[in-house]
Amino acid sequence: MTRSPDQLRDDNRLVPVVEYLVTPNSTAIDFAPPAQPAQPAGQPVAIIAVRDLVHRYQDRTALNGVSFDVRPAELFGLLGPNGSGKTTLFRILSTLMVPTSGSAMIAGFDAVRQPGALRRHIGVVFQAQSVDPKLTAYENLWHQGHLYGLRGPELKTRITEILTRVGLLDRRADRVETFSGGMQRRIELAKGLLHHPEVLLLDEPTTGLDPGARRDLWQYLQILRDQEQVSVIVTTHLMEEAERCDRLAILNEGNLVALGTPEALTREIGGDVILLEARDPQSLADRIRSKFQVDATVMDNHVRLEIENGHRFVPDVVEAFPGEIQSLSVSKPTLEDVFIHRTGHRFWSEDAEPAPATGKKKTRKKPS
Ligand code: ADP
Repeated sequence: MTRSPDQLRDDNRLVPVVEYLVTPNSTAIDFAPPAQPAQPAGQPVAIIAVRDLVHRYQDRTALNGVSFDVRPAELFGLLGPNGSGKTTLFRILSTLMVPTSGSAMIAGFDAVRQPGALRRHIGVVFQAQSVDPKLTAYENLWHQGHLYGLRGPELKTRITEILTRVGLLDRRADRVETFSGGMQRRIELAKGLLHHPEVLLLDEPTTGLDPGARRDLWQYLQILRDQEQVSVIVTTHLMEEAERCDRLAILNEGNLVALGTPEALTREIGGDVILLEARDPQSLADRIRSKFQVDATVMDNHVRLEIENGHRFVPDVVEAFPGEIQSLSVSKPTLEDVFIHRTGHRFWSEDAEPAPATGKKKTRKKPS
């Protein structure tokens, strides 16, 4: 049986959305006149300004004084291994959690002091599904629009616009349960964007998607940045996704360890990365250091060097230690190398903490 959007308004399957939008004792979004930004009027240089953000859970520090800016219409990545503080930061930015200290401003509004006003300027896509699979794409958006006070022809036009943006206009009358995982994620994007937010926050949006759908989703994020002029903030633990961002903040154990464009961050390492396999990597690393005065370290049973003109160094090192090197590779630095360079350890460590029982995927293995 098809239900009209009005009949569906009180449908308890939409409770998660309502919970996010309303204050504990209210039944609808607060439509009080918009609060004034805490920041002086005029176009802010940074659409998001995070300053000295600290968050502690009892005795565990999840964020340890993180500061960065995000610019308007930027695709910005929060990259970090599991436990680095991404979700905590995401929750603070989406006003679901109050930080221990420091501040986070979005579109000039303070996440702690002006959460209601700030929410009008952000769209949020959580990891957990928020679309109703039994409703059509159009009905999901219609209902979402009502939660934001959109109605009638204005809402209809906006739904058409946003379905066009995410490439699903021709499927508007189909139930979301008939969509692929990638298409369902695009409906989540559309929901997050319906009220014209300047900022879209997405928590690991490609979790559970196959590689084709992942690529697809990233293309849509780029389209949204370019055509809707939205600032897109994405948390990810995948290097290949981080490489697609305009700029990145790399987190490790609650600390911001790197900030910049993927190109600038990898360029900063300079030269090449050489990995050598040997029977006794520690002894070989010690002797390479003393013979060539280069910084050779041991990582995962390999000797690792960052060096200019790696291809010229290779014959020298092979000749200097005949028969000792079993295999070697020379490569351009990657974001993983940036992480190693800044932290002294690999992105994916064997002793990473176990996944909490929240249903959130906490992959332990390095993705292939
Ligand atoms: P990420 O999203 O990068 O995996 P989180 O923000 O979830 O990182 O976690 C950062 C740190 O805070 C981790 O050490 C984690 O165990 C801890 N943490 C997260 N949530 C809680 C919580 N509710 N209570 C206690 N510690 C938590």
